This record gives sequence, C-alpha cells and structure tokens, in this order.
Amino acid sequence: MTPPFVRTAPSPTGFLHIGNVRSIMFNWLFACRHGGRFLLRYDDTDAVRSKPEFAEAIAEDLAWLGVVPDRVIRQSDRLAIYDAAAQRLRDAGRLYPCYETADELDRRRKRQLARGLPPVYDRAALKLTAQDKAQLEAEGRKPHWRFLLEPRIVAWSDLIRGEAHVDCASLSDQVLIREDGSYLYHLPSVVDDAETGITHVIRGEDHVTNTAVQIQIFEALGAKLPVFGHHNLLTTASGEGLSKRLGHLSLRGLRESGVEALAVAALAVLVGSSDAVRPVASLDELADLVDLAHVSRAPAKFDEHELEALSARTLHQLPYEAVAERLAGLGVDGCEAFWLAIRGNLAKIDEARMWDEVVRGQLAPVIVDPDFAATAASVLPPEPFDATTWKSWTAAVSAATGAKGKALFMPLRQALTGLDHGPELAALLPLIGRDKALRRLAGEAA
Ligand code: GLU
Repeated sequence: MTPPFVRTAPSPTGFLHIGNVRSIMFNWLFACRHGGRFLLRYDDTDAVRSKPEFAEAIAEDLAWLGVVPDRVIRQSDRLAIYDAAAQRLRDAGRLYPCYETADELDRRRKRQLARGLPPVYDRAALKLTAQDKAQLEAEGRKPHWRFLLEPRIVAWSDLIRGEAHVDCASLSDQVLIREDGSYLYHLPSVVDDAETGITHVIRGEDHVTNTAVQIQIFEALGAKLPVFGHHNLLTTASGEGLSKRLGHLSLRGLRESGVEALAVAALAVLVGSSDAVRPVASLDELADLVDLAHVSRAPAKFDEHELEALSARTLHQLPYEAVAERLAGLGVDGCEAFWLAIRGNLAKIDEARMWDEVVRGQLAPVIVDPDFAATAASVLPPEPFDATTWKSWTAAVSAATGAKGKALFMPLRQALTGLDHGPELAALLPLIGRDKALRRLAGEAA
C-alpha cells in the first residue's frame, strides 16, 4: 500500500471530547500502521463560532494524546481556493442560486410533512428566470447556493463497513454557500481533501450521507476520490449520544482528572472489542492491534469506570523511560527501581509523590509494639541492601520474636511506611535505606 495521508478536521468551536478521539485515533493509528502522514485541518469557516483559543486547545490536546500532525492548515486561509472551485461548479451547472428565506423553507417543509412527503428541497429555484432573479436581488435578497445532486445511487467500498451506498434521489440539494458568501462544510472539505492529496477519509458514521454528497462533488470537480471509512460513534454506557455531554469528558477534563492519555486513546478505539481490557505501552503497540477492516461494529459504549480501570492498568506496565520526565515534573526524584516498586500501586501517576515521601521524605512511623520494633531493628542486616534483604531480615525477625504472617509483616510495614498497605517492602526497603529504617523502627519521625 502506498503510504496513506489522513486527516482530522475539527472545527475550533469547542474543546475536543472523548467522542472525537475515536476518529482522531483511527486516523492516526492507520497512518502509523502504514507509514503514512497525518494532516490537522481546522474547519474554521464559521468566523463567528471559531475561536483561536479552541484551535490552541485542540493542538495541545492532540499533543497530549501523542498525535503529532505532519501538516496543519486552516480553512480560513484558503477561501480563494474554494471560490475557484465554486466557480467551476457554477460553470458546470452544478451550483445554483436560491433565494428562499429560512422561514419560507421551513413552511415548505412543514407542508410536505403534513402531506406525508419527504422534506426534500423542491428545486423551485431552478425554475427562476434571469428576470425573476434580477427582481429578487432588486428586492434586496441575496442568494445562497445549492449543489445540484444527480438523482442516483452513490456506492463506495467502505474501509470499515464494506460495500456501502446511498440513494441521492432522496436527498435535498445541499447548501454549499450561505447568503453572506461564507462556506458551509461540504465544499471546503472536498476541495481540501482533493487539493492536499488525502488518500483516506476516516470519520464517524454520522457522515455516511455526507460522503455520498461529497463523492458527487469530487466527481463534479474532476478530483480523485479518496477511500472512505466510517466507524460507529461512541455512546454513553446507557447508549445515548456523547456529543452534547461534554464537560468532564472533554480531553482537558480527562487530562486534569489524571487519566493516562494512552488509556484514553486505547479505549476510544478498542471499546466494545475484547482487546479493550488490555493495556498498551505505546501508540505503536495500539496501531498493531487496530485493523480498520476488523474494527468492532458492536455498540461502542464508553464507560468512565472502564477508563479509570484501564488507565491504572496502563500505568502498572509502563516502563521507566515512558514516565521519567513526568515523574520529574511531579517533583519526584525517582529512579527506575523506585518506579518499578511503586507503579503497581498507583491509580494515578501523581500518587507517586506520596511514595516518594515514604522513600525520601519524613514520616511519622506507626509503632504498636516498641519491643518488637527494637528486636527487629537489632537484626536488620548491614548495607548494602538489595532485593533479598527483606526476606533475610524478616526471617531473622521471625526467629527472634516467633511472629509469623501478618503479625510479622504488618508492624514492620507500619513502622517503615506509616501505612498499612502499599508496594512490596522487598522493593521499598532498599530505597528507604538502613539509616531511615532504623530511625523509623525507633519511633522517630524520619
Ligand atoms: N469539521 C467536520 C466535523 O468536525 C469534519 C468532518 C470530516 O471529517 O469530514 O464534523
């Protein structure tokens, strides 16, 4: 396969949320898997709702996910290209002016529905003579422009759904240009996909009908068709659409809550499949798991608890190199041995701070039986400590005190960590060191 060129095309009118991640990651992983490239396109032709701060947030959120675009474009920079394409469609008789107001269209739709007819645009504007148009314009009306759809079945071989088709005879001619001259989604999207050489358009199945319309636009412009793929959309655990339920499911919110980006990326694409329970260590590993031809078509129900659990499991298997910088960012001066000792006990990475305190900081030990602690201290082996020190020490403590099992281990854990749960002491003890261990066994805050 020649290396694909894929894209994600968010409108910077809000924050990315978990639902967007499914599309973004399918594209990114497809590019990774096939040695391709990835374009970030800001669909910002809506000048009122598009905001630079949302564009910045999108770039940041992609970076957090580990998605690094090879190229970034903004539709607002490319209006002249769309103007030229619109002119070609006009010249070909595929783009025609319409003068109805929103109210008129609404009344017409209601009449159609009342008569049991589909609410399809009736193409009344096609019957306007040059004189009618001049008259309407003299009255101060400005045209919006519709794409003349050919009433035929448009079929394509969908990367995810297999053979797909839409009957365009039952669709309204889409408005491509508003009265104020601004572009709606279809034309800029097709022109950009064609002009930038996008080879695969992978997006949610809410775009299936759009794809049929867009294929007709590609063809009317004489442009090469990309391959299309439509995945199903994430829903809530109870099956409702996610799009309107943003808030804490925005990528910002998820990031702030401390979940692992890798878990967000993995669950967004694996949800519903048996692989969803399996943590991955990198996006490359995830790319190997995701084959678009075999993407699960089962309802993609997103469950926050599942995300939290996967996030913890993701953390538990991350190698030190993957977290070293983040630990430093948390002010944790941990080494590989520290990370390997604690990772299995973390739900969120910032809990590493607490274990850093246990290892390097000062804590109030819990001493229930001072005599037991003193005996334990007296048989603590000399340094250097290693992974076997704990075993030989506890054997010696057991021999000296007769304590076994929980009665042996719990008082030692409480003395050394001030807590009654935590990582394996065999791994922690060498990190705590002999001096601190002795002081804590003596009941000193150390
Ligand atoms: N801006 C469009 C959206 O966010 C892009 C859809 C597409 O991928 O073509 O829905």
